Amino acid sequence: RRMSMAKNSETVKVVVRCRPINKKEETMNHEKIVEVDVRLGQVTVRNPKAQPGAIMKTFRFDAVYDMASSQNDLYDYTCKPLVDSVLLGFNGTIFAYGQTGTGKTHTMQGLPTDPEKRGVIPNSFHHIFTHISRSQNQRYLVRVSYIEIYQEEIRDLLCKDNNKKLELKENSESGVYVKDLLSVVTKSIEEIEHVMNLGNQSRSVGFTKMNERSSRSHAIFIVTIECSETGLDGEDHIRVGKLNMVDLAGSERQSKTGVKGKRFKEATKINLSLSALGNVISALVDGTSTHIPYRDSKLTRLLQDSLGGNSKTVMIATIGPASCHYEETITTLRYANRAKNI
Ligand code: ADP
Ligand code: MG
Repeated sequence: RRMSMAKNSETVKVVVRCRPINKKEETMNHEKIVEVDVRLGQVTVRNPKAQPGAIMKTFRFDAVYDMASSQNDLYDYTCKPLVDSVLLGFNGTIFAYGQTGTGKTHTMQGLPTDPEKRGVIPNSFHHIFTHISRSQNQRYLVRVSYIEIYQEEIRDLLCKDNNKKLELKENSESGVYVKDLLSVVTKSIEEIEHVMNLGNQSRSVGFTKMNERSSRSHAIFIVTIECSETGLDGEDHIRVGKLNMVDLAGSERQSKTGVKGKRFKEATKINLSLSALGNVISALVDGTSTHIPYRDSKLTRLLQDSLGGNSKTVMIATIGPASCHYEETITTLRYANRAKNI
């Protein structure tokens, strides 16, 4: 049991990032209730309704990032080792989890054109193609897919007809896969950024309430890296690693009273994927579970070959600092904590 714990604490990393207080929260005089201790890897939250001096809740993670943290710090310390292992032929998944407005998209995308402000996804492009350009005896093939899961339906963000629903299939040879999913070969940073931008545009086209949709859907950017090398035996050896970068649906509770019909159905489906993901990760971290419940949602089925086993997982939980979001912040920290602790 101890050994499996040691192993899993390396393969599943959970970190928290707190964004700065924003203008709106400032004007409304919301207090800052979150303290981030970068050195100890701790987040402390004060209940705004509690008496002064009341005990505060403290949570510990593999790393924590405060409002002054840079995109590059987060990438280098938390994401780079995972992408390095993908370059070696392993699978890996990076999630951004949190309430809408806390910085999931900022963390995953950021400003792709600005070296200081680009997020995890564009930073991985620079990392991958720099690695490839420096390699001597290997030949690489980089392919990209980009999908959205909305109400347990899968769509291809790189396909012109992006309203077509795709099916999840399974066979003994390829495991679980998305039937008819496009896979685009990219040969440079510019090309892969272009493909990402096309997918991002397709996410917003045709939907008037873009923000609502994006906060209710999961966006999964998949980079498959194939590396072939001629061995001493004169034969070609191929290894394949897959990198999944996931901007999850907003974790806010949607099933508040008054939500009925279609909305309610939607809410339960969103919560289903997020709770299934939480269950899978905590079963993996536990290390003693014999059953990992991958089959409980499209998201976890799709990522089955990249969660557990030899794969690495990074969960970035994003939170806001203001008192008005106390409940959601605690809920997010509990979710993230559960993914980490036994
Ligand atoms: P989400 O995707 O979780 O809904 P966003 O990434 O859209 O949230 O962030 C909401 C707003 O907060 C955006 O204007 C974004 O630029 C800003 N923001 C989020 N995180 C940070 C951060 N760490 N530093 C500065 N601004 C941030
Ligand atoms: Mg977003």
